[in-house]
Amino acid sequence: MDGHDEAGQLRWRLVEQEESGMLFPESSLGERHVGTGEYRGMEFFHVNARTIVNKVPAASKMPFEHTINAYRGCSHACTYCFARPTHSYLGLGMGEDFDRKIVVKVNAVERLRCELRSARWQGAHIAMGTNTDPYQKAEGKYGLTQGLVRVLAEAGNPFSILTKSTLVLRDLSLLVEATTRTRVRLSLSVGTLDREVWRLTEPGTPPPDKRLEAVAKLNEAGLRCGVLIGPVLPGLSDSEEQLRAVTRACSEAGAVFVTPVGLHLRPGVREHYLKWLASARPDLVSLYAERFKRGSYQPAAEQHRLSEIVRSVERPVSHRVSWRRVERLVEGSNAPGSFVGNASERPSRSVSDKRSVRVEPLQLRPCTEQLSLL
Ligand code: SF4
Repeated sequence: MDGHDEAGQLRWRLVEQEESGMLFPESSLGERHVGTGEYRGMEFFHVNARTIVNKVPAASKMPFEHTINAYRGCSHACTYCFARPTHSYLGLGMGEDFDRKIVVKVNAVERLRCELRSARWQGAHIAMGTNTDPYQKAEGKYGLTQGLVRVLAEAGNPFSILTKSTLVLRDLSLLVEATTRTRVRLSLSVGTLDREVWRLTEPGTPPPDKRLEAVAKLNEAGLRCGVLIGPVLPGLSDSEEQLRAVTRACSEAGAVFVTPVGLHLRPGVREHYLKWLASARPDLVSLYAERFKRGSYQPAAEQHRLSEIVRSVERPVSHRVSWRRVERLVEGSNAPGSFVGNASERPSRSVSDKRSVRVEPLQLRPCTEQLSLL
């Protein structure tokens, strides 16, 4: 059930356990603010985080060791979002509560400044967008991601951002400036161009074509931005035609990598998603029962099929990224996956000469936090 737990308090202590410990002092229960104007229908819970840079557990297979999530919950309201269970740890519901009751770590920027100054901090890469979207609606009100980017840039600390939001363009000049001081990786996730599927499954996100326009603008500005096509939803966005269309659009937007990711459904999210599916698309229930009969992940052959379709898409002659310019700006940074650039201008030996969009072989058990945004 959505709503606070019986004690009427958010269970911050459980959040502390989940995010590498001691994020919120016990005494700091969330201060509730009701959204007005464009934020009508939303609630914001202000908390002070004890730490803001989270250390990823050593057992994790994620390609980064540190994350920042300034918000919890996400107004993008994706039906398949597997960050949803994090809200139940707080005594909130993983359904509507997750979409409109947002926890805001109001001291995130000042905490980061302190933590980067610590003698213990070694300047490791920090990933943003791992458990909530850093450019979700609340960012327009609080500007925490913008503040975090500024602090990271000032410190010359490498970072990455994964988002579904065009709000990232608000920080375009800040991000360009950051690339002169440190390594910056950007990814947008665009699962489909199909507007019906988009409306049905990601009702709070900007339309896919607007996201691809953002990819183009980021790349035109010299930032190196790729696309995660995901999650690809069985029966909804996984036809060859749909995948080829979105891959072509990514290529035309100058995406520096394109990586397809199949849907996975871990416990908790699985029940939530399948309940939604039974009501929204009952005709697909048996397909999902078959695909997920062995657990949270689809058969390896399905991921292979997605990768092969994306790999086979020819890139257009126009809309190619100027590799020399990108290389100059972000030398040394390697995005996951291969590139969609002009072979004659390629930035490194690792880039393929093939005239097609190439994709990096994808692990079937992907880095779960990073992909929680999909
Ligand atoms: S998948 Fe990402 S963008 Fe969508 S609701 Fe979850 S955190 Fe937000």
